[in-house]
Amino acid sequence: MGAGEWGVELAKILIVEDNALNIKLFCDLLAAHGHEPQAVTDSRLALDSARTFGPDLVITDIQLPHVSGLELIRMLRADEKLGKVPIMAVTAYAAQGDEERIRAAGAQSYVSKPISVMKFAATVEELLAVERAPGEAAPEEFNDKPEIDDPESWANEEVDDPGPQDPGGEEDST
Ligand code: MN
Repeated sequence: MGAGEWGVELAKILIVEDNALNIKLFCDLLAAHGHEPQAVTDSRLALDSARTFGPDLVITDIQLPHVSGLELIRMLRADEKLGKVPIMAVTAYAAQGDEERIRAAGAQSYVSKPISVMKFAATVEELLAVERAPGEAAPEEFNDKPEIDDPESWANEEVDDPGPQDPGGEEDST
């Protein structure tokens, strides 16, 4: 079914990062949120890894040897299959103008290091939510495209807790 621990849809997330401690931190955080992280340390392999893995989100460091994060973002954007995958950049040196450069290259979000765990997790979920509900379900678009597999799945997306439902089950158990 692909649903995570809290009913959040499991997402495949590619991490491009050359720092082992950050890789561990990001992977642990994402796994704790029910996602499936995969890390690449060598940015020269990132594009191939992404093509094979088919991520729902790419998180990339900017300061990377060989192929910089900015170059990688541009390469992903130019790729036929990966061009629309949301990208979150993570950078240690946010100088003036960096955010603009990162966004201009094609990343949707950026988080500065050292990361705030809350901000990191919130940004990930935000990007995944946008990807799952393209066009934010505008009413006209709705009428044009009535093919929704399971309205419940997107209707519940922003709900953090499992909710009080569970019809027929025990109630007032808390
Ligand atoms: Mn780095």
